[in-house]
Amino acid sequence: MSAVANDDSRALAEVDAVVIGAGFAGLYAAYKLRELGLSHRAFEQGSDVGGTWYWNRYPGASSDSESWVYSFSFSEELEQEWTWSSRFPRQPEILSYLQHVAGRFDLRKAFDFNTQVVAATYDETSNRWQVQTAQGETVAASFLITAVGCLSAAQVPNIPGREDFTGPWYHTGQWPHEQVDFRGKHVGIIGTGSSGIQAIPIIAGEAEHLTVFQRTPNFSVPSRNAPLPPERVAELKKNIKAIREFCRWSTIGQPYDFKPDEALKVSDEERQRQFEADWEKGGFEWMFGSYSDLVFDKAANDYASDFVRDKIRATVKNPDTAEKLLPTGYPIATKRLPLDSGYFETFNRDNVSLVDLRETPIEAIVDKGVRTSAGTHELDMLVFATGFDALTGPLTRIDIRGRGGLSLKDKWTEGPRTYLGVASEGFPNMFMITGPGSPSVLGNMPTSIEQHVDWICGCITHMQQQGVSAAEPTSKAEGEWGAHVKELADDTLFPQVDSWYLGANIPGKSRVFLPYIGGFGTYRQLCNDVAEKGYEGFRFF
Ligand code: NAP
Repeated sequence: MSAVANDDSRALAEVDAVVIGAGFAGLYAAYKLRELGLSHRAFEQGSDVGGTWYWNRYPGASSDSESWVYSFSFSEELEQEWTWSSRFPRQPEILSYLQHVAGRFDLRKAFDFNTQVVAATYDETSNRWQVQTAQGETVAASFLITAVGCLSAAQVPNIPGREDFTGPWYHTGQWPHEQVDFRGKHVGIIGTGSSGIQAIPIIAGEAEHLTVFQRTPNFSVPSRNAPLPPERVAELKKNIKAIREFCRWSTIGQPYDFKPDEALKVSDEERQRQFEADWEKGGFEWMFGSYSDLVFDKAANDYASDFVRDKIRATVKNPDTAEKLLPTGYPIATKRLPLDSGYFETFNRDNVSLVDLRETPIEAIVDKGVRTSAGTHELDMLVFATGFDALTGPLTRIDIRGRGGLSLKDKWTEGPRTYLGVASEGFPNMFMITGPGSPSVLGNMPTSIEQHVDWICGCITHMQQQGVSAAEPTSKAEGEWGAHVKELADDTLFPQVDSWYLGANIPGKSRVFLPYIGGFGTYRQLCNDVAEKGYEGFRFF
C-alpha cells in the first residue's frame, strides 16, 4: 500500500482505495482514508455530495431520526459548531449539513462528481480492483469500498402504459432539483410508505386536487416535529458525548431504547396510559422506546396496532375513508413504520381523495391519468412513492465481479450472502458500508455508518501491520453469519409480512430478511470481538 497523501488524487489511475458514493458513508470513508494516509478516489453519480439527501428532494422529505444524532460524531468541533433547527431535520437542512461537512473537512477534492461507477472487477494477478466508470475511466485500487446507500435504487413499478402518460411524472427518490409546481394541478400519488406519507400532506396543501392510490394501508405515528429552542440545543450540546455513547450501544442507534416492561405483563390501564403518554411525545420512541415484547409477540403487538387504528378512526372524519386507511392483517412496525406530520388529517381535506387499490386495482396508466377497475382518474401529474430495491439493489446494479469472474448479482440470486454485512466471500478487499446482513436500515444510519467505516479502517490497518494485502471472509464464517441473521429475524414478527426488508417489493427478488435485527449494540460488540480475535472469519493472503 502506498502511503501517498491524496492532495491531487483525482489524477491517479491507481490508488489504495476507491469509494463509491458521497452520502454520509462516502464522506466519512474519504475522511478516514485520508487520516490513514491511504491514497483514494471517490465517485459520485450526483453533481455534489448528499447521497440520499441529494436525491430525495420530494416535498416533506425529512429524517425520522432526531437531528442531534442524525449527524457525525467523529468531530467534537463539528458537533458543537452545527446547530439543527428542529427535532427532525428536513432534507434541505441535512443536505446543507453534508455540504458543510464536505467543505469543512475539504472532502470534495477526493470525489469525481457526475460519475457513475458501472463495473468493478477483481484482478487476481495484481490483487487489484479495476473500477470502471460510465464516463470511460478505469481506476485500479487495492480496496473497493461501497458507500452506495441502502435505499438508493429507485423502483418505478412496471405498470402497463407508463410511457403513455402525457404529464410530468416523478419518483420521490429521484426528485428534480427544480421546484415542482403543483398549484392548480390534479396530482396522483402511488404509494403510502414513508415517502408517500411525508409527501402527501404537503402536496395536498398545494395541488388543486390530490388522488392517493393506496395498495396497503400503513400504520404511522406522529413525528411532532418542532423547532429546537436555544436552551434545548445548549443542553443537547452539553450532553452530546453521553447521548452518542448511549446510541452506539442501543437497539436502534437512537437516544432511547425499549423499556424493560412487557406489554403483556402490565395492566390494560397502565398500557393505555403509557401508549398515550408516548404518543404525545411522538417519534419512533412511541414504538421502539416502548414495551420490549412489541416486536416479538403477536398479542403484545396487537395492543399497539389497535391503539394506532383507534387513533386513525378518531382522526379521519369520513368513516368509509377511515376504514380504508386502517392497516390490518400485519403487525405494526413489521413494514417500516413511518412518522408523519398530519398524514391522516390530510384525508379530511376536500381536495384529497383516496383510491383503495385492493377494491379497484390499477389496470393501466393512460395518457391522461390512471385507470383502475372502476374507471379513469384524470391527472396532470403523477408521483411514484413506490420505494426502492433495498440493500442489495444499489450493489447489484453495478457489475461487480470477484475471483474467477464471479458476479455479485449471480452469487446473491438466492439472497445476499455476507459476513457481518461488510464483506462477501469471493470478493477480496471489497468492503460494504451498511451492506445486507448489517443493522443499517433498522435504525439511525449515521450511527451504523460510523461504526462500519471505523471497523473497515481498523481491518485495513490490521492488514498493514500484518503485511498482508488481501482479506476475504471464509465460506464458513459467511454461512454462519447468514444463518444467525435469519434465526434472529425468525424470532421476531418481521418475516410475517411482505416488506422491502424481505425484498418482497421487487418482483422476482428472493424473500430473505436483509438487515441484521439483533440490535446496534449487540452487533457492535460482535464486530469488536471479531477484530480482537485478529478479524476472525477472514482469511488473509
Ligand atoms: P416503501 O416503503 O417501499 O413504500 C412504497 C409504497 O408504494 C407502498 O405503499 C407500496 O404498497 C406502494 N407500491 C409499490 N408498488 C406499487 C404498485 N405497483 N402499485 C401500487 N402501489 C405500489 O417506499 P418509501 O416510502 O420510499 O420508503 C422506503 C424506505 O425509505 C422507508 O421505509 C424508510 O426506511 C426510508 N425512508 C425514510 C424516510 C425518513 O427517514 N423519514 C423517508 C422516506 C423513506 P405495498 O405496501 O402494497 O407494497
